[in-house]
Amino acid sequence: MAPNVQPKMKAFETKSKPAEIRSSNIEAAKAVADAIRTSLGPRGMDKMIQSGKGDVTITNDGATILKQMKLVHPAAKMLVELSKAQDVEAGDGTTSVVVLAGSFLEAAQKLLEKGIHPTVISESFQKASAKAVEILEAMATPMKLEDRHSLLMSATTSLGSKVVSQHSALLAPLAVDAVLKVIDPLKDHDVDLRDIRVIHKLGGTVDDTELVEGLVLDQRSAGSGGPSRMEKAKIGLIQFCISPPKTDMDNQVVVSDYNAMDRVLREERAYILNVAKQVKKAGCNVLLVQKSILRDAVSELALHFFDKMKIMVVKDIEREDIEFITKTLNCRPIASLDHFLPEYMASADLVESVPTGTSKVVKITGIQNVGKTVSVIVRGSNKLVLEEAARSLHDALCVIRCLVKKRFIIAGGGAPETELAYQLTQYAQGLPGVEAYCLRAFAESLEVIPMTLAENAGLNPIATVTDLRNKHACGFKSSGINVRKGAITNMLDEGVAQPLLVTTSAITLASETVRSILKIDDIVNALY
Ligand code: ADP
Ligand code: MG
Repeated sequence: MAPNVQPKMKAFETKSKPAEIRSSNIEAAKAVADAIRTSLGPRGMDKMIQSGKGDVTITNDGATILKQMKLVHPAAKMLVELSKAQDVEAGDGTTSVVVLAGSFLEAAQKLLEKGIHPTVISESFQKASAKAVEILEAMATPMKLEDRHSLLMSATTSLGSKVVSQHSALLAPLAVDAVLKVIDPLKDHDVDLRDIRVIHKLGGTVDDTELVEGLVLDQRSAGSGGPSRMEKAKIGLIQFCISPPKTDMDNQVVVSDYNAMDRVLREERAYILNVAKQVKKAGCNVLLVQKSILRDAVSELALHFFDKMKIMVVKDIEREDIEFITKTLNCRPIASLDHFLPEYMASADLVESVPTGTSKVVKITGIQNVGKTVSVIVRGSNKLVLEEAARSLHDALCVIRCLVKKRFIIAGGGAPETELAYQLTQYAQGLPGVEAYCLRAFAESLEVIPMTLAENAGLNPIATVTDLRNKHACGFKSSGINVRKGAITNMLDEGVAQPLLVTTSAITLASETVRSILKIDDIVNALY
């Protein structure tokens, strides 16, 4: 009898393995989605993340939470990638995308349990998400970049769910202005957020955050007796060092008598004085010096000369900031003393070292031929608030960038998801059997967004979502959950709007990830 049982068992094992792997993947990914569900929406909670080293982060941003989570399961890691993808694509909606993926997975799991083949589910979900994008595009309101009200509304909505939401009256217009200033009129369908330089400065409150038209350098002016304010500045940006070279580890210069020692010092002095004189001769009165890792870029002696010549020096400019600085000032970096010529320099009305928070920054304003960049100094009374403020500002900037890329807005507060659920269900009625079934499941799972918003706001989720569904069935497309009033209202009237791109990209990316999770039937450990 026994030999008969053996092969049967084996066949059974191999047959059930894909299903087991699939369900373990789904469970793992769902667990991640559940973990950040409570952060969704303006009444969502924040997370405190403690790193192995003891660093603490407080945040509400899905991408930031997931990035720092220590995950082992490979399917769970896919959700981290998903939220990163949304961060790159839209910048906002990083929590929503993961919550949606979790809900799609749950729907898929139920369909699998009914015996529907994973490929069929996957194809139906693809169809559903393509249709969803179509529906969203049809219901979106077109807008123009001149329409400041819509821009502000979207930025405020994005900031509304953050720790720093009470400062959105300041941060929202700031984000709008910053993005509008860096738009290139020739390529006005995208903006490079790298043209907005965000500087974090501890001290003061978030309300002290400011937008500076011009350039802000994180460094203070060097030297003690030299000028820290310069009107009618001629600015030179150098990439070479004004200091004696350091000898290599292996080489040594042994100076054994005093005369030789004096000669070395004299030579050094003469060399540095010559450099300083040439700088002065070129008409430069503000010198920016790139940081050098090999030695002090400007020696104490050189600083002394510059102080005497009334040349302001800002040293330790980071290599990666050079591009931004040259773009803003419209100058060229100078790589050697031979090229220290007036035409390589920039002019500005004022260069000034100003105290900001617990340290100082150098502000350059009134720049001639200023490039299309802006600087923002974000302030916060402690490191946690400061960093979250900067992250929230980044989300707001991304929202405006989305609107520059695709100029449509839709209502927030669960309105688009409910409308999608309603219209997709209707669309499913015209489809054949199994496909219709899968599409209906997909449609229903979209309601996780209004459901979660209601739950997080302390409302009765079932009652609220049912009410909302009725409203949409009656044709009120912009009805959503007003979490502040605890009622269902027209979200556009309430000023809760978001870019179309955030929602469409969340739905397409989430369904894409879910489809790839469904198609996995085995996990293989690699050798290396
Ligand atoms: P995400 O990281 O996905 O952007 P958020 O915590 O910012 O997550 O929450 C976004 C969700 O909250 C969106 O569905 C948006 O429509 C909704 N939302 C934002 N502000 C409001 C509001 N004032 N009332 C109701 N819903 C809102
Ligand atoms: Mg958001």
